Amino acid sequence: MRKKIVAGNWKMNLTLEEGQKLTSEIVHMVKDELNQPVTVVINPPFTHLQSVKKLIEGAKDIFLGAQNCSDKASGAYTGEVSAGILTSFGASYVIIGHSERREYFKETNEQLTEKVKLALANGLTPIFCCGEPLEIREANTQDAYVTEQLTASLFGLSEDEIKQLVLAYEPIWAIGTGRTASSDQAQEMHASIRKHLASKYGQAIADGISILYGGSCKPDNAQEIFSKADVDGGLIGGASLKSRDFVDIVKSF
Ligand code: PEP
Repeated sequence: MRKKIVAGNWKMNLTLEEGQKLTSEIVHMVKDELNQPVTVVINPPFTHLQSVKKLIEGAKDIFLGAQNCSDKASGAYTGEVSAGILTSFGASYVIIGHSERREYFKETNEQLTEKVKLALANGLTPIFCCGEPLEIREANTQDAYVTEQLTASLFGLSEDEIKQLVLAYEPIWAIGTGRTASSDQAQEMHASIRKHLASKYGQAIADGISILYGGSCKPDNAQEIFSKADVDGGLIGGASLKSRDFVDIVKSF
């Protein structure tokens, strides 16, 4: 059985105080309302990691994640944060290859491979993002585009390494736009990703990897999207900034 996961990506939002308030609310709601095993991951800005970690201590389903890590292990890289530093703060997950990082910070497939390897070497679970821009979807070449992203960054990993990953399919045209992929579009792409993983690593490994959907996921569409066979949860941006919305999504399986 694959893990069901809902991860909140706060991006560059919320002051420390706002982040603490949101975390406390999530902790209480999850404790009182969640009646099935779902792994909840909170990915605040780096500066909030330690405070969020303190607030989730003792909450058995809630884990700490970061939104990025460096592609270097340590050294003179001003402003960067390494996977090892994240582990030392108690992080368990790290988002790698978010489309905003690929687009605005020009992160390359090769850098993403390095980040994944460093994350794994430091005991972090990468949440590796992939997804096509609008023009690719309009040309109906999204399968080839996304599978190539995975091949380029991940297919040098060993079986033991790939097994530890979580993937997130996030069509760029659906991120922060209010335009969600239909549940059928999500399922089609998730099945295609799983088939591609199986072609390299075998069906058993592919069947064990959780694939999350991301892109304008909200309480009113999460249930329909999460009901699909190959959708194992969500990576949530905007709706992760409101405790009620986020926890309602967590409860949507
Ligand atoms: C994201 O940035 O990972 C995301 C899915 O954002 P949103 O939910 O706001 O579309």
